[in-house]
Amino acid sequence: MNLQSPPHRHETLTFRTNFSSKKPIPTSIQCCVVKRDLEGQSVAVIGLGKSGIAAARLAVARGASVLAVDHDENLGLLEQNPMFEKHSSLKTILGNFDNELLKDADTVVVSPGIPLGNYGLSSLLQSGKNVMSELDFAAEVLPRCTKILAVTGTNGKSTVATFAGQMLNYLHIKTFIGGNLGIPLSEAAFQCLTSSLEKPMFQVAVVEVSSYQLEIPNKHFCPSVALILNLTPDHLERHKTMKNYAMIKCRIFSRMCDSKMCVLPLGNQHLNEAVRDRMNKFNPAWIGDFPGVKIDLEAKTASFEIPNIEGVSQLQLDAMKTIGTHNYYNAAVAALSVIGLDIGIDTEAINSTIGKLRVPPHRMQIVRKDTLGVTWVDDSKATNVEAAYTGLLSLREQKSVVLLGGLAKVLDMQGSIGFERLLEPLKCHRGVVTFGSSGTMIQKILSANGLSIPCVGATNLEDAVKRARNMTRYGDAIVLCPGCASFDEFRNFEHRGKIFQELAFSF
Ligand code: ADP
Repeated sequence: MNLQSPPHRHETLTFRTNFSSKKPIPTSIQCCVVKRDLEGQSVAVIGLGKSGIAAARLAVARGASVLAVDHDENLGLLEQNPMFEKHSSLKTILGNFDNELLKDADTVVVSPGIPLGNYGLSSLLQSGKNVMSELDFAAEVLPRCTKILAVTGTNGKSTVATFAGQMLNYLHIKTFIGGNLGIPLSEAAFQCLTSSLEKPMFQVAVVEVSSYQLEIPNKHFCPSVALILNLTPDHLERHKTMKNYAMIKCRIFSRMCDSKMCVLPLGNQHLNEAVRDRMNKFNPAWIGDFPGVKIDLEAKTASFEIPNIEGVSQLQLDAMKTIGTHNYYNAAVAALSVIGLDIGIDTEAINSTIGKLRVPPHRMQIVRKDTLGVTWVDDSKATNVEAAYTGLLSLREQKSVVLLGGLAKVLDMQGSIGFERLLEPLKCHRGVVTFGSSGTMIQKILSANGLSIPCVGATNLEDAVKRARNMTRYGDAIVLCPGCASFDEFRNFEHRGKIFQELAFSF
């Protein structure tokens, strides 16, 4: 069967937005819901994490017989998972796997965690087999009336996606927020497919997209607004070069054309080169120029000029309650993207939401102010040097003891971990405590490059917190802004942040 043109079942649905705005509100939109379009077909799902399980559930709901595969022998069989009970068309293979079996599948759906070098996926893709990312598999059946707002970049994706979702929700737009963050897009597609509601489940899907999800060229994922927030060295162990990393990120735009809005940061050479040939196919909007958004951090305002729409509008950001100046920037970009969806939301409507925006956990999250006047801040999600740089720069007005460490990421062929970049933002702080497996190396790099504030070493996070507590004065902050991965001591950045928060309450 030709997967490019599945036998859609068309249902015409109507929705109406119910907030006040000067722009026209769409009242009737054609909404196509595809049901059991994979009947008689086989789908292999590779990788059974959250995304893989959601894709397998969607494949079953689409009528396919499903082969679910994972190298980890300790996972449970999907056949025994209550979500899949009663589906005889499902088989799980864990542990050793014969890649030849994939040749029999009509479609192979790949989870983001699986590089194309595994399972012979590169050769399958080259041979013309229908190999898809989980994201694209979901997008294929997401109702067309659900507009996609897609967010990628090296740092700040989750925050911008969360802010955009919060703005839409506060304005009573039925919004799905997920993708790489939280709930996989396949889950949203599954809910749409199995819903008995007459109205569409979601008017907008705000989708955080990682570079891993874009490694396989997409055929169906076509956002109404897509944005690349920034691009700095990261994940190079998988993508190898910045050129390749930029090319993969720009796939987020690859199915967009006409009136769709593509948002890019001004002056990023790698991204400029990667999109150069496609520039005339879509509407570019710039972070830092018009058309796009210009942000004045001093005045705490953002000015917008939307492509093909005359006039400039302004948003006041001083009602924001989050810390870190980078979050003004994140809110402004989220607002630009929401306005660019063209669903009747203007700057005036967004204005009312600014004071209600909240950062996701472990992103410059204020944990507590203790009895000695010390504010504890959890930025555990700063897992690379560039994120730590932005976080620390944004805290200029709050003297802090900064916890740096964990497992540092190598940034280039020479083995550099790049911590000299942090000298400048660290200048105005109280001190540094390094910890974890890369702690000593970070301390050496900072000292060798003339760090001007005290720096002490600690064995692990708990020891680092104790030493930091001894360095603080009344009114200071203790900020976990590690600039490193967490796997040397913790399961993930969430686990590291949770332990830090518990330690914060032990004083
Ligand atoms: P991502 O989802 O891309 O990993 P997050 O929103 O989770 O990004 O933020 C991760 C870290 O990146 C934060 O803890 C903060 O230190 C830093 N950060 C947040 N916003 C930005 C931004 N706009 N530019 C650079 N770094 C940022």
